Amino acid sequence: MISDLPPYKGELFSCWLYRQSLFSKYTPLNTFLLEEIYWGFASQASFDADFDIMSDFVLQACSILNISRSEFAYFFSANTWLVPRAFRICFCYHCFCDHIKEVGHPTCKVTWATVYMTVCPDHACALLESTFKKTKVLNLGINYFKNYYIDGVRELLESGGLAAIPDMLMPVILKIQSHLDGAEAMSKASENQRAVGYWEFCKTVLRIFLFPVFGLVHVTGRFGTFPNFSGQVSFLRALFNGPLTANLQHRRIAIMLLGRVLGLIKNEDYSCFVDFLQRKCTWRLNDFDPYEIGRLANVFSQNNAEFVNQIIKRQAKYISCPSIDAFVSGFLSRANIE
Ligand SMILES: [Zn+2]
Repeated sequence: MISDLPPYKGELFSCWLYRQSLFSKYTPLNTFLLEEIYWGFASQASFDADFDIMSDFVLQACSILNISRSEFAYFFSANTWLVPRAFRICFCYHCFCDHIKEVGHPTCKVTWATVYMTVCPDHACALLESTFKKTKVLNLGINYFKNYYIDGVRELLESGGLAAIPDMLMPVILKIQSHLDGAEAMSKASENQRAVGYWEFCKTVLRIFLFPVFGLVHVTGRFGTFPNFSGQVSFLRALFNGPLTANLQHRRIAIMLLGRVLGLIKNEDYSCFVDFLQRKCTWRLNDFDPYEIGRLANVFSQNNAEFVNQIIKRQAKYISCPSIDAFVSGFLSRANIE
């Protein structure tokens, strides 16, 4: 069935469903029927039309379209660390232009929903965040595209400012992103303790940087607003939710700091890297030394610090990398003082 209107490379399942409902000549799932079954499920709190592969909605849509098991796998084999649907507002304008040229309709891609993706790997440009609020609708691609032009968002987004990344730094961010992409794939593909530990360590460090309100990246305060967490949210939930609810700027700064911790910044890129972060951040970090980053990143109260210390120690155990060791020592040094 997919062959009647093939998905665009890396296209979100819901966007493809919508597109085929508009353009396929033979589809049994036209727009009217699709909207009907979609909204029948959309009120469920955990509903995610793109990644909840065993949801009734996905199964019903696939059964109407007679999508086989192997075709089914095409849509659902992607990254696993995903921004929740309500916060999935990133897009690449140049990708939209390619889609319009190639398939006649802008569509959304899986990579834009991935936590550590903040620049477009195909166009080497910064992803942007749409201000379109109704993230539950099916045809997000066209809505983000329209929003970009109609609501004056284009000027806002293109005026440089927050979204701008110096040309020299783009390859560095792309390198960190693709390193994380590789680390995630390795951890999924193997039972190797080192590969799994490494990927989990990367996630933990990003969670620490992006800890709501108090995390190293959040306390910089120059860009974006604090996420609105109520007092009842448990520590663990807050820790896990940080990267999922942080805005694009926050996530980008956090992955750059992680790149430094992982030893991915080469000497020739170093001054540009420091310049950029220094302009974005209000704190001073002694040249972003991994030990110092680790020390300042430990913002947790004594009770919670013990828990995070254990995780960090366990995950770092199998990794041998001098900058990671320095980060961990810095992080644990706080615990020793208190
Ligand atoms: Zn792009």
